[in-house]
Order: sequence, then C-alpha cells, then structure tokens
Amino acid sequence: MSFIEQWLHDAVPALVGGEWRTGQTTFTVDNPATGDSIARVADIGADDARDAVAAAYDAGPAWRATPVKQRAALLRRWFELINAHADDLARLMTLEQGKPLAEAKGEVAYGASFIEFFAEEAKRMAGETLPSHGADKRLLVLREPVGVVAAITPWNFPLAMITRKCAPALAAGCTVVIKPAEATPLTALAAAYLALEAGLPAGTINVITASKPAEVGDVLTTDSRVRKVSFTGSTPVGKHLLAQCASTVKKTAMELGGNAPFIVFDDADVDAAVDGAIASKFRNAGQTCVCTNRFLVQDGIYDAFVAKLTERVNALNVGDGLTEGSVIGPLINQAAVDKVQRHVDDAQGKGARLMCGGKIHAAGERFYTPTVLADVTTQMAVTDEETFGPVAPVFRFKQDEEAIQMANDTPFGLAAYFYATDYRRIWRTMEQLEYGMVGVNEGLISTELAPFGGVKESGLGREGSHHGLDEFTELKYVCVGGL
Ligand code: NAD
Repeated sequence: MSFIEQWLHDAVPALVGGEWRTGQTTFTVDNPATGDSIARVADIGADDARDAVAAAYDAGPAWRATPVKQRAALLRRWFELINAHADDLARLMTLEQGKPLAEAKGEVAYGASFIEFFAEEAKRMAGETLPSHGADKRLLVLREPVGVVAAITPWNFPLAMITRKCAPALAAGCTVVIKPAEATPLTALAAAYLALEAGLPAGTINVITASKPAEVGDVLTTDSRVRKVSFTGSTPVGKHLLAQCASTVKKTAMELGGNAPFIVFDDADVDAAVDGAIASKFRNAGQTCVCTNRFLVQDGIYDAFVAKLTERVNALNVGDGLTEGSVIGPLINQAAVDKVQRHVDDAQGKGARLMCGGKIHAAGERFYTPTVLADVTTQMAVTDEETFGPVAPVFRFKQDEEAIQMANDTPFGLAAYFYATDYRRIWRTMEQLEYGMVGVNEGLISTELAPFGGVKESGLGREGSHHGLDEFTELKYVCVGGL
C-alpha cells in the first residue's frame, strides 16, 4: 500500500472530517519485537478532538438519511478493500503489535467479517407496530441511529476491535470518532483510509491519535454531541470513562478485562482439552481478553493434562512475528513482561511447580518463554489478576462444585471454557458459570455471528450478531392519535 509506505517514511496524520491532519507534535510507534521506532504519528489534543466530534456531528444527518442499501453497498466496498489489502494490513499489524503474521492475517479476516455482516444486517433493522390502548390510536416503535459514537480501543486487536464497533455503528446510520490505542494506531488509520477509498463520506469516520489519552478522552466522554461511548480495554479505565459519561448521560458499551477459567473435568477428552488450552491460552502470546487465565483441572486427569500441556507448550516456537514459523511473538511492552515475570515469581515463591518456561526468551527482552505452572493455589496472584502473557497456571480441584465456586469467585465474567463429556455435567456447568460467553469443548469462540461481551466487571453491552446492531440504535415510541 503506497500510502502506508509514505506514512512510515513521513509523519502519519490523523483523520478529522475527511482531512489528514499532521498535528503540531508527534509521538513514536515502536515495533515490540525489536524496540525500533517504526513511525511518528500525529499527537492530537483536545481542540482537534473537538473538531473530530464536530465533523462527525455535522456528517450525521446526511449519513442517517442515506438509504440503507446505499450505506450497505459502501460498507461492502470497504470490506472488499480490506480483503484486497489483507497482506499489507497484516504486515503493518505485526510490525506495530507483534503478533505472528499468520495470526495478523486471521485478524484481518475476522475484522473484515464484522463489516460484511453488519452491511447486511442493517437491512433487517426493523421497527414495530404494537397493539393499541385506544381505538383512535396507533402505536409505532421506530429504530433510529444513536448519533455520534466515540470508539476507544485497545492495542491487542488493532483492527477487529475497531470494525466490531464501527461497522454496526455506520451500518445503523451513526458516525464515528475512533481513538485507537497509542501503541497501535497505524492499522486503525490504514483501515480508515480504506473506508474513505470505499466512498464513505468525509466526517462519517474520524481517527484521532494521541499519546495522552485522557486529554482527548475527556472530550469524547463529556461533549454532549457524542451520544455513545463504546470502549474496549481494561476495567479501571472503563470505570473511569463510565463515570465521566454520566455527566451527559451517554449510552455506553464497555468491553473490559477478564479472568477466564478453563475447567477440565475427569471425563474430558484430554487431547481435545490440550488443543483447546493451546488455542485459548497462547493466541497473541496470551494477550487476549478472552484468553484463559486459570486452568482448573480435576484430580483424576490432572497429571495427564499437565504432562501433555507441558509437552505442547515446550514446542511452541517463539520469535519475531515476521519470521516464518513463529507462533509466540513479543509482549507489547516492558511493563507487560514485568507483570508476567511477577506472576511467575509469586507463584513459584508460594510453592507452584515450574514445568517449563518461567523466564525471558533468548529471542529478545520483550519475548517471554511459554510457561506451565503446576500445583497453583488460590493464594497466588494469578488467581485474581489478568496475567496477559503466555503463562498457563494449573489449579487442582476434586468436586465439581469446587470448580464452579473457584471459576465464579472473581469480579470478572467475560469468557469461560470447560471440557467434559457427560451431558448432565455439561448442562449443569454451562448454566452455573457466571460469564457472558462459555466455550464447551471449544477453546476459540469469537465470531461476528454471536454476541461477544461480559457480565459483572467485564462490562456492559454486546458486540457482533444482531444484538451488536441494537447497541447503536435508539427506540422512539410514536403514538398516532385522533384517528
Ligand atoms: P487500556 O484500558 O489501558 O486502554 C484501552 C484504550 O483506552 C486505549 O486506547 C487507551 O489509550 C485508552 N485510554 C486510556 N486511558 C484513557 C482515558 N483516560 N480516556 C480515554 N481513553 C483512555 O487497555 P489496554 O492495555 O490497551 O488493553 C488491554 C485490556 O483490554 C485488558 O484488560 C483486556 O482484557 C481488555 N480487552 C477487553 C476486550 C473485550 O472485548 N472485553 C477485548 C480486548 C481487550
């Protein structure tokens, strides 16, 4: 993509009202694998953020008045352009985020799938007529776009977290201001560039990049023209933004942190459970919100599971995401590496058995060796904190009730997984887990076709499926009287 090459040599602009703005100052984006700077990006402040909100607000009336088939056709074109540039986007994503190229390609396909889905789904966004309480009255329910949406996204899925919000918002007739994570703004900007190429009108999609997120965050959460804040990120930041949104009573969607349990019952197929464990725990080097944080394994199958898991984890290839064959890339920054090491040291210090890994990898200071810890107990930090790295801590339990109690004993409730074969146990467990998403004999559950989201402190709202479209619409009740 020539525009990306150009950007990487020059300063990367932000997108405000269809114009590429270089900004007064810039900040650097690093390649986490090497620590090298790969780009300088416009550092947007409060004034430019307000301009972006104004541009989105001004573009709103024409966009919502655009017939849905036309909006859908533009989104479809955006979907096609993302697919046509999949290799370049994936490479850019690996450069700024670190994930192996094959995973980055997978994310491009996954990210694009939301655009394809919502372009179609918007055509089915129907209102209602309701039975009336008076012979001379008719009751209608109209479904209208919310208005300007602020989308604030994390670094771990630089494309998919953006399309999962923007595709339904745009499809519903909303306009958007995106605030991507400061570590990974390039993929977001490239996606927005392709949206303009596809023909989305100026102002419908804006991208503001900032090294000081609070400054633009304050604008997005307090400006009364923004009607919805859709946030994906950590629970503490989500709580802060939620409080700020209260001042103008905005609609909010909060996709926050998790502490996913992965339960393996005695009757599980141990090989299938290990396959699921590898997929759920080690994708993106363990840096996904739905990735397993705690393995809870029943006594009778414990040793077999730990042995097989350790064998598989030992064989995972660590290296630069651009190197052929790498399956575990770097962690995003030094703080992430330090947190992982702290969790491993804490567990070992309190009696956990290190089965493999446990240290920084020879590939570089940001690479952590995939790790398995056995005999982990609830006194250890991994019980309550999201590790966000390639560490598999394995707890032991005896009775089913004990596993359910441990699984639910957390303020979080995003994703949970379990492996079992007895159908009664499957139904019971599925119903007892206090989570927004449950994988049963399955470690990878994300799809644009299903509602993604959590309960408790993991968040509010759902993304994906027709529920994801509802999040960007308001219901307007109309009573037509005097008939
Ligand atoms: P983070 O909360 O630090 O940052 C997320 C975004 O918020 C970034 O764009 C950041 O710049 C911005 N931000 C931070 N402070 C802000 C402020 N005061 N005002 C406005 N914006 C602000 O999270 P992260 O480290 O980027 O991502 C990792 C976290 O995200 C993990 O906890 C993970 O579980 C969670 N996550 C959740 C989901 C989900 O769907 N539930 C998906 C991916 C990641």
